[in-house]
Amino acid sequence: MLMRIGGKDTGGVDGGWIDVKNPATGVLIDRVPDGIPEDVAHAVEAADAASGGWKKKSMRERGIILFHAAGLVREQHRDIAQLLTMEQGKPLKEAIDEVRGFASILEFYAGISAHSTGEAIRLGSADCMVVHEPIGICGAIIPWNMPVIIMGWKIGPALLAGNTMVLKPASTTPLSSLKLAAILDSAGLPPGVLNVVTGSGESVGEAIVRHPLIRKVSFTGDCTTGEKIRQLASGQLKDLTLELGGSDPMIVMVDADIDKAVEGALRGRFYNAGQTCTAVKRLYVHEKISKIFVKKLRVRVDALKAGNGLEPGIDLGPMNSAGQRERIADIVNEITDKCEGKILTGGCSLTGPSYDAGYFYRPTLVSDVSPGARLLTDEIFGPVLPVVSVPDLDTAIKEANRSRYGLGASVWTTNLATTKRVFDEVHAGIIWVNRHLTIPPEIPFGGMNESGIGRENGSHALDSYSRTKTLFLGW
Ligand code: NDP
Repeated sequence: MLMRIGGKDTGGVDGGWIDVKNPATGVLIDRVPDGIPEDVAHAVEAADAASGGWKKKSMRERGIILFHAAGLVREQHRDIAQLLTMEQGKPLKEAIDEVRGFASILEFYAGISAHSTGEAIRLGSADCMVVHEPIGICGAIIPWNMPVIIMGWKIGPALLAGNTMVLKPASTTPLSSLKLAAILDSAGLPPGVLNVVTGSGESVGEAIVRHPLIRKVSFTGDCTTGEKIRQLASGQLKDLTLELGGSDPMIVMVDADIDKAVEGALRGRFYNAGQTCTAVKRLYVHEKISKIFVKKLRVRVDALKAGNGLEPGIDLGPMNSAGQRERIADIVNEITDKCEGKILTGGCSLTGPSYDAGYFYRPTLVSDVSPGARLLTDEIFGPVLPVVSVPDLDTAIKEANRSRYGLGASVWTTNLATTKRVFDEVHAGIIWVNRHLTIPPEIPFGGMNESGIGRENGSHALDSYSRTKTLFLGW
């Protein structure tokens, strides 16, 4: 596939290519241009040329185009989902959910476009009118774990607010983004409003952050990359949204519905093979129920069927790349090498004819984990779940907060006072009760501490893609 610049499929200036391979089979699916900063410059020119016309449209007109695009995405959801499964690895049923989720995000923003608001302020000797203006050209850098949903979180509010955009997908998952950009163009998005430039993070990603005409950058990915982007952008005082992952705790109290909580932990950790920013990454279970809880969870974990996501009945795909599997293996191996916990099940790569060509890792449960183990302190982006037994709610809250992240958290309980304490005391941008992972388009999403800066999703995200401008009428 080619890049998408100015509404056209466009080759790269340099002529190099990036191979896109299926992480389940190692088979080459397609290739995309290995872009360089000049490609970003062309995309910015296209975005700049489209800016004036797009900004002049009413929010409702922009919303209608997004709504039309959502309809086309729904019509073609199977094809897009297949492409997503092939490049990312997730089971087809999860890819279908994700593509439908993308359509829902566009529909949500189309829906709120009818409520475009400003403010009038009466001052006696003067009246003021405050309007929301688009920022201009925005940059988006997206990761490989949920490339379709995260693209929706960025383009939905940015385009509705009247901005144009230059987006860089991850090098392992560019195909779904290119396909969606072409669908948006066919839905009536004027050429140049959304441009997709493929290429490496160091080359294309940094060129987006450095380009002086790009006034805001929204990034999702690793903390270290986020910090680098913050430093690059600070010289030009760019607006930034950074979503840098998390290490979500799940707290299960003695009064919880155990079977429901077991299912919550299973989905919360192993959905998308654990490669989700808001996955359950640390499980704290009250000691009175921890034995039965772990027994039930282990049965469910051992029954998960791993394999090529395009085959029927698959629950778990591969890691997206060899590097991601290595990261996971290193952290789990440390547990054994340093005697920092007990591997209850899993703890190694999956091997055999169906797995050897891909990057599969066995679903893993670890108990008795030492508090300082990397398994508890780092963001574990794979199917590995540490379970910690806690004597009471005070300890659970204290342990939940023992993290540099603060993205999400959940408590599983039927007690309102427990709910209130966790909501008030656990540091996270979202606290679920008897749920984990669910993020409908209506709610703001983003973290505290090292989980990032700013909010995506919901009507709040519109504010982050606009700025106010005031007309002061002196009488
Ligand atoms: P990265 O942060 O490297 O990648 C995310 C995106 O940033 C990709 O599009 C990547 O491009 C781009 N990028 C990389 N370097 C730069 C740069 N210097 N300037 C601008 N853009 C850049 O994450 P990884 O893929 O290396 O994943 C590492 C870890 O990060 C994971 O194990 C996980 O812990 C965490 N992570 C968290 C995510 C989340 O949703 N919170 C998502 C992804 C990762 P390219 O693909 O071309 O390198």
